[in-house]
Amino acid sequence: MDCLFCKIIAGEIPSAKVFENDSVYAFRDINPQAPVHVLVVPKVHITSADAICAENSVHVAKIFEAIPQIAKSEGLTNGYRVITNCGEDACQTVKHLHFHILGGKQLQGEMG
Ligand code: 5GP
Ligand code: ZN
Repeated sequence: MDCLFCKIIAGEIPSAKVFENDSVYAFRDINPQAPVHVLVVPKVHITSADAICAENSVHVAKIFEAIPQIAKSEGLTNGYRVITNCGEDACQTVKHLHFHILGGKQLQGEMG
């Protein structure tokens, strides 16, 4: 499958890893929008939040179990934002489900 994040997970494209377990891979965004900008992805290919279902939601649960650990290791003691862009109207550019962790500064209130 021609998927950028599947290639990153497989190590075919280099990335700055910050966390990994059996289900989850996390790495630094190549174009950070905040002092801390980490992408957290399931190792299985799920296209977007719109493709989450009973059969694959365990992988999403694993991501949300990992997020507090990643936030702690990144020093985000004063809070952070978790975002997923889903589909064209949200400007999703990589069609492999990913959650942005943004923090390390006071973020703006705008969500769109
Ligand atoms: P989206 O716009 O789909 O929510 O987010 C995709 C994110 O992937 C963007 O923030 C973009 O900077 C990041 N990105 C795109 N290509 C690469 C890459 O090759 N390596 C890394 N580390 N991040 C990437
Ligand atoms: Zn993929």
